[in-house]
Amino acid sequence: MKIGLYLRVSTTNQKNNTSLDYQRTLGVDFCKRSNYEYEIFEDVESGGKYNRLEFDKLKLKVKKKELDGIWVYDNDRLSRKMEVGIKISDLIIENGCRLFVGWEEKKIESSGGRFEYMIRSVMSDYERMRIKERMDFGKRKLLLDGGKLGIVGFGFERDKNKKIVVNKEDSKIVKDIFKIYNYKVVKSYGSVYDRLKNKYKRSVLSISSIGRILRDKKYNGLYEGKLEGESYKIDLDKIIDDELWKKTQEKIKINKGRWRGNIRDFFELKGKVVCGGCGNKMWVVKNDIYRYYTCNSRLRTMKEKRKDSNIKFECNSILHNNISIDNLEKVVWDGLFKVLQNSEDLKNEYKKRFDKEIGSKERFKGIRIHLEGKQERIRSEFIKKLEGFIELGIDKDIIEQLNKKYQNDIFEINKEIESLRDEEKKRDVKDSLDGYLELLKLDLNNDYKMTRNKSRVKLIDKYIESVIIDRIDRNEYRIYLNMYLKDLGRYEKEDLEISENKSFYISKIKSTHL
Ligand SMILES: [Zn+2]
Repeated sequence: MKIGLYLRVSTTNQKNNTSLDYQRTLGVDFCKRSNYEYEIFEDVESGGKYNRLEFDKLKLKVKKKELDGIWVYDNDRLSRKMEVGIKISDLIIENGCRLFVGWEEKKIESSGGRFEYMIRSVMSDYERMRIKERMDFGKRKLLLDGGKLGIVGFGFERDKNKKIVVNKEDSKIVKDIFKIYNYKVVKSYGSVYDRLKNKYKRSVLSISSIGRILRDKKYNGLYEGKLEGESYKIDLDKIIDDELWKKTQEKIKINKGRWRGNIRDFFELKGKVVCGGCGNKMWVVKNDIYRYYTCNSRLRTMKEKRKDSNIKFECNSILHNNISIDNLEKVVWDGLFKVLQNSEDLKNEYKKRFDKEIGSKERFKGIRIHLEGKQERIRSEFIKKLEGFIELGIDKDIIEQLNKKYQNDIFEINKEIESLRDEEKKRDVKDSLDGYLELLKLDLNNDYKMTRNKSRVKLIDKYIESVIIDRIDRNEYRIYLNMYLKDLGRYEKEDLEISENKSFYISKIKSTHL
């Protein structure tokens, strides 16, 4: 009688006593004691797959009756997945092959033996699921225990179970920081620092740490982090209640704006303003009262003179082409929106967006239908499985476990389907293209009122190539606005006239596409 010793590990570095060597020693020992001949088959891979390299060879030999039996160290060697387990048991029964597990022979052709084998298969399957769950759970637990979190952050600490909890002493300081920052007279993190130092008679935290703490959501009970590209959230005990948190964030926003406003060292048109008299880029000049663009010819000539050079930069503009920055920004901004309202370019852009929205609705529908199909498949597979179990008379508890998993799968898919339905609804473009052009107007209106420097510059960069200045008189300018637009509407021919602070600006719009 010849036995196939089937040895398997899931990875080459499996270090416990189920290693290949260990399995081999036991299997060979078993055969020698029983006076069986043997052949060894070794696989290194997951038991979830039926087609394993060496196992295939073994299968073939069983079918050819070259082997009379299979020996495995335990049931797990054969399969951790139930469906695979069934196939293997079929193979054994169909070929009248004997099965030895460890020191025992399993008679799976008898109903009792098959029953035991099936139970073990189900348990393996269940165990495999559990291993995955445990791994996922382990990851999350690691986070809670601070594995990847590293430092818990000022105001928190870990308790004996490594859970993140509030540190009583430090959290008092955190509370003080939020309280002090919300005093009416306090307008900066630095002033929080001073007051904190006064109270504690020592420097407790740096100014930048104070700023960081005031903006960190974890003090309001929410930790947001990333692990291997996936973001996760952890609820912590709140040190700062919702009201104080909200008030603080609003104050930070206001103070930031004030700070920005103070600097006013930001020029929307920088690098785009060109002197019409000489073609050079104009420079920014600012003093306490005025901020203006000026032709740089005179300044550069002066610089050369200082170097004892005779190089002169000529320009035929008048009054150095000086133009108020505030006025110019206003004139360009207003001009830009007048032109955009008239341009077919923007309308085309919105038409495209309209088509795309319709497209995305179809896409969401496609995914939803796919998921509904998947749900149906899971349902019928489950019922098939269930029928099989009932036939075999398998324990209620096991069926209950599988049922729970099934319910959960269905529930998860349902959730996804619902959210897709929501997306579809959101994309119900019911008001046709007219509605879209309304949206364009609304967007333009909102953009026009925009005050954030960065957003304004983004729009200016998108549409304005250059601004050429020609000063005609003390209070009169001609401005050429070169725009990245194909269509200028009526401003193709018409000039734009704007007066601002007693000065008069005539803008000629040009398209860079011509
Ligand atoms: Zn010039």
